[in-house]
Amino acid sequence: MHGSRSLFYSPVAVGTARLDSSVSVLGIPGRLKALPPGCVESDDGIPDIVVLTETNAAALVASRLRPALAAVLPIVDVSGRIGPPSRFRRADIVLGGSGCNSLADATEMLHSVVQRVHGLPPPIFATADPRIMLLARLHVRERAMQPRRDPSTKETVSYDDEIAVPGARMLAEQLVGLGLMERRFFDMRSVCPYCDSARLSVRERCISCGSADVADHAVLHHMRCGYQGPEEDFFDPSKEDVLRCPKCTRRLEEFSIDYDRPGTVCVCRACGRVSGDTTVEFGCLDCDADIASANIDSRSVYAYSLTEAGHACVTSGSPAILAALEPQERTAGTSIRNFLERQADLGQHRSCILCVRLHEAEGGPSHGRSWQQIRRFFAAILRECFTAEAEIVATLSTYFVLISRDSKHDVEAALPEIRSRLERHFAVKPMMEFAIFAPDEVLALVSSRDIHH
Ligand SMILES: [Zn+2]
Ligand SMILES: [Zn+2]
Ligand SMILES: [Zn+2]
Repeated sequence: MHGSRSLFYSPVAVGTARLDSSVSVLGIPGRLKALPPGCVESDDGIPDIVVLTETNAAALVASRLRPALAAVLPIVDVSGRIGPPSRFRRADIVLGGSGCNSLADATEMLHSVVQRVHGLPPPIFATADPRIMLLARLHVRERAMQPRRDPSTKETVSYDDEIAVPGARMLAEQLVGLGLMERRFFDMRSVCPYCDSARLSVRERCISCGSADVADHAVLHHMRCGYQGPEEDFFDPSKEDVLRCPKCTRRLEEFSIDYDRPGTVCVCRACGRVSGDTTVEFGCLDCDADIASANIDSRSVYAYSLTEAGHACVTSGSPAILAALEPQERTAGTSIRNFLERQADLGQHRSCILCVRLHEAEGGPSHGRSWQQIRRFFAAILRECFTAEAEIVATLSTYFVLISRDSKHDVEAALPEIRSRLERHFAVKPMMEFAIFAPDEVLALVSSRDIHH
């Protein structure tokens, strides 16, 4: 797979390629009819630029290139600007857009990306780890993974990079946990508590009968008699340009002298109630639930970018770094199974496992590095809460405390104290979820999540 590639990456070969500065181009689905000066058709090696020549060619990229190349190589769409904008999200450059009208322009614009692709160490192109692909993709483009508003998804935001690297958002969250990416607040979404959809409609409802058939009306105030009411009630049916007080029947003379407009009220067309207040209610467009505003959940949306460590992970050419950062998942599964077997062998029935899942506090510091520090500090405090006998194993954000002499019931009773001991050292309280499992429950959990492999 890498035979011709190793030549490509030797300094001599790169130097030669740069001397004539030709850019190799791979057309998908087929050859390009005309190539601009300085471009050559790609041989069977790694092309510099992928060019989509037909309207549905983006769907073919995954079958024509191995995953790492499909994720990393820059793509130009020359098929013509026909179709919805979403059709072009796979490409870095679309001809006809943003002042780029020819393949020659596009090649020029992609010069530094191509240079950085050349600088990638060969193991990157062989990786099967989508997290490495995502890191390398953003590294060569020197940009963050930006969300965009997208009503076609339940989240109402999407990342174009998810098309090139499926699951990119989830992968980015993992990479934040590993300190290789950091996230920056982009926007907040209100979401349905039942189905997590952010596609919500908002409406006001009458506080008396609940109808949504309400409308705001201006209020007029007649100073001579003190009456206040909706503006329509002051319209004189016989004379269009006259306002008449419905209470004292006098004609209103001059604005701000004998009458004024103190504000608006809400009038319900269903029950006729006139009120200063309405309740706001959300309707979920996906599951059809009606949700009071107090029950609405919220989700933060982030942009993700590489940290120094993230760039280093790519340029070092050792995707193994990533594996070294997270053997915890596997070790945790093994430790839990060993613990359970040991307990069974001893005939020890008073044992349980406490799971503590740590969430990053909303509104707290959201950089990868400080999150790492919080996790480390949290792990130390958790350690202090238990005797030395209790084993604690950790995955990215979950801690498993293996407790050998207390039952699930005992630990449940002690939970409030454990929680307060964990919380009192933090200025911003970390968000924690607790779950306690008896041995047989854990066995089911471990095998269902397959973490023992
Ligand atoms: Zn009403
Ligand atoms: Zn009046
Ligand atoms: Zn819903």
